[in-house]
Amino acid sequence: MSKVTETVFEVDLNALRHNFEYLRSKLQPGTKFLAVVKAYAYGHGAPTTALFLEELGVDYFAVAYTGEGIELREAGVQAPVIVLHPQPTHFEDILRYKLEPSLYSKGVLQRFASVAEIRGLHEYPVHLKFNTGLNRLGFDSGDVEKVVAFIKQHTAVKPVSLFSHLAASEDPKELDFSRSQISDFKQIAERFESLAGFRPLLHQCNTSGILCYPEAHFDMVRSGIGLYGYGNSPEYSTQLQPVGSLKSVISQLHRLEKGQSLGYNRGFIAEKTTVTATLPIGHADGIGRQYGKGKSSVLVNGQVAPILGNVCMDMLMIDVTDIDCREGDEVIIFGKNHSAEELAASAGTISYELITAISRRVKRVYKR
Ligand SMILES: *Cc1c(COP(=O)(O)O)cnc(C)c1O
Repeated sequence: MSKVTETVFEVDLNALRHNFEYLRSKLQPGTKFLAVVKAYAYGHGAPTTALFLEELGVDYFAVAYTGEGIELREAGVQAPVIVLHPQPTHFEDILRYKLEPSLYSKGVLQRFASVAEIRGLHEYPVHLKFNTGLNRLGFDSGDVEKVVAFIKQHTAVKPVSLFSHLAASEDPKELDFSRSQISDFKQIAERFESLAGFRPLLHQCNTSGILCYPEAHFDMVRSGIGLYGYGNSPEYSTQLQPVGSLKSVISQLHRLEKGQSLGYNRGFIAEKTTVTATLPIGHADGIGRQYGKGKSSVLVNGQVAPILGNVCMDMLMIDVTDIDCREGDEVIIFGKNHSAEELAASAGTISYELITAISRRVKRVYKR
């Protein structure tokens, strides 16, 4: 790709295809694949990403909120879309856009069923979420009887899947905990099936679940971060390809003499002659202040350049004292040779937070 002339997030759809195929190769034939495209497809642009994945044969999509589902439908996505955390005020929109809600408590199940009943619907697809230890959203295992009794009486809705979510699937130290979540989920599913007389699709694994717990793939898996190229461990990340590269450009070079300061609050004071480069990217673009003060680095012409002082809203400054570079040169904030996982770790966070924070102001450029 030609050198950039402004800050861009380059999205490599071939890498996305590679990651999808890699993850799918871990599944038994027939296991369905749900692509998680919430948070603007983890920053990569939900419409383009989802349409591309739909062409590749993804079975289901998931988003967090109703508005994100509407965005997919308006882009022309046809596959089923689960809304993981819908607010009851949006139930009418869920029906209007043929989205499928995750229902996680008696209250939301009742409210959704009554909206579906008023419209005279029959067996509208819904997904029931059970809590097996994350303690975030979900029915408890003890709710199965009540839930089944309710759905037997309210045929306006039909549970097409039961699911749960692992709390620590990437952490080998939590093997026992994850296994207990898997066995609890199995018991919930068996109880549901014996009482309801049918078996919805079962799913529990996110990306690290797919990679670490093949015994828990059930009927479908849900992958987000893996599709975008991060495996939550060096072992898996080397098999995946980062899809997004955040690139910027040098706007101006400055030469600071010993004792001179740089940026707001004089966040950096030169201890020796220092050449700095100013880039058109700041915390309003998703590179927060935690990356400043020398904690994190970017790449300029293949060399490591630390971020100096405080990150500004629209700019940040880097140390290029020992780097041969000029104004207009490209800068890699993160990408294939300087991964978002590494950059995030340098500031004490995770790839998920870094990539989903890239704001809409940054242009997405797709490469096929
Ligand atoms: C976000 C999310 C996922 C995706 O997790 P990854 O670790 O990104 O693969 C899967 N399931 C649920 C319920 C989620 O909220």
